[in-house]
Amino acid sequence: MSDTASPLDAFIAGLPKAELHVHHVGSASPRIVAELAARHPDSKVPTDPAALAEYFSFRDFAHFIEVYLSVVDLIRDAEDVRLLTYEVARDMVRQNIRYAELTVTPYSSVRRGIPDRAFVEAIEDARKAAEAEFGIVLRWCFDIPGEAGLASAEETARIATELQPDGLVSFGLGGPEIGVPRPQFKPYFDRARAAGLHSAPHAGETTGPQTIWDALRELGAERIGHGTSATQDPRLLDHLAEHRIPLEVCPTSNIATRAVATLDEHPVKEMVAAGVLVTINSDDPPMFGTDLNTEYAVAARLLQLDEGGLAQLARNAVEASFLDAPGKAKLTAEIDSYLAGWQR
Ligand SMILES: [Zn+2]
Repeated sequence: MSDTASPLDAFIAGLPKAELHVHHVGSASPRIVAELAARHPDSKVPTDPAALAEYFSFRDFAHFIEVYLSVVDLIRDAEDVRLLTYEVARDMVRQNIRYAELTVTPYSSVRRGIPDRAFVEAIEDARKAAEAEFGIVLRWCFDIPGEAGLASAEETARIATELQPDGLVSFGLGGPEIGVPRPQFKPYFDRARAAGLHSAPHAGETTGPQTIWDALRELGAERIGHGTSATQDPRLLDHLAEHRIPLEVCPTSNIATRAVATLDEHPVKEMVAAGVLVTINSDDPPMFGTDLNTEYAVAARLLQLDEGGLAQLARNAVEASFLDAPGKAKLTAEIDSYLAGWQR
C-alpha cells in the first residue's frame, strides 16, 4: 500500500494507540491461522506461510466471506479460542496498541459446540495472560451477528448478562444491515444496558443515516460502528457532534466491502469538519490487508495530519473508549509524553 511510504510511519509505529473497532476472528493473521490449521490437520486451510499468503489474497468479496468462514471453522474448542485471543493480543502489541476493545461473537462458537462458560473462560484467560505478559489491556464487546436473527440476539444477551465476564464492557450488533432493521434488537440492548453494558452497534456502514438514528434512539448507541453514511444528514452530524457520540471509522474496510468507492472519497474529512469525535480503526485487519498503523497512515493522508494531529487521533480513541477514568488518564499521558519526546 502506497501509504506505508509516508515519513510519518515511524511516528505512527511508536505511538501508543487504542483500538475500538476490531473483530476477534477477523484479527486472525496468516501466522495465527497457520497455528490453528496445524491443530486441525483435516481442515483444507494451508499451514505454510507462503501458501497462506496466497490463500489470503481475495479475488472478490464472496471469496473473502468464504475464507473468513474457513477460519471460523478452525475455532473448534476452547483452546483454539484461547490461542486466537492471546496471539491477536501479541500482534496488537507489535503495533504499540496499548488498549483494545475486541468485538467477540460468542454465538458463532457456542452454536458450533463450544460451551458458553468454556468460551468465556478461554477469552478471559487469554486477556489476563496478555495483560500480565505484554502489558496490553483488552476489553470485550459481545456482538449479535445480525444475519443470524433474533435467536442469536437472545443467546448473545443471555451469555452477556448471565456470564458477564470482567473484561466485558459493551454490547454490539454486526453483520449485514440491508434487510436487518436495527429496532428489532431493542429488547436485547435494553437487557444488556440494564446489566451495565455500554451500547456500541454497527450502523450506517452499508445503509443510510436512518439506520444510525435507529441505533441512537432504539438501541441507545453511545458509539457508532462505522457510521459512514452520517455525512448524508447534516442534522445527524450536528447531533453526533453536540452529544459527543464517537464514530468508529475503518477506512480500508469501507473500500474492501465497497461501502465507499475509493479512499479519496471517504467521508472522514466531512465528519471531522462537522466536529464529530472520529476514531480510526482496522475492523478485520489481516482480511483487509491492513493493520491499525496502516489505517493511521491512511487517516494522516486523508486528513493532512502531522505528528500532533496523529497524537490527537490516538487521544480521541482513548476518550471514546469504555476505559475507566484512571485508565484513560494514564494512556493519554503516555500519548502526550511520546509526542513531547518526539518533538524534542
Ligand atoms: Zn465491524
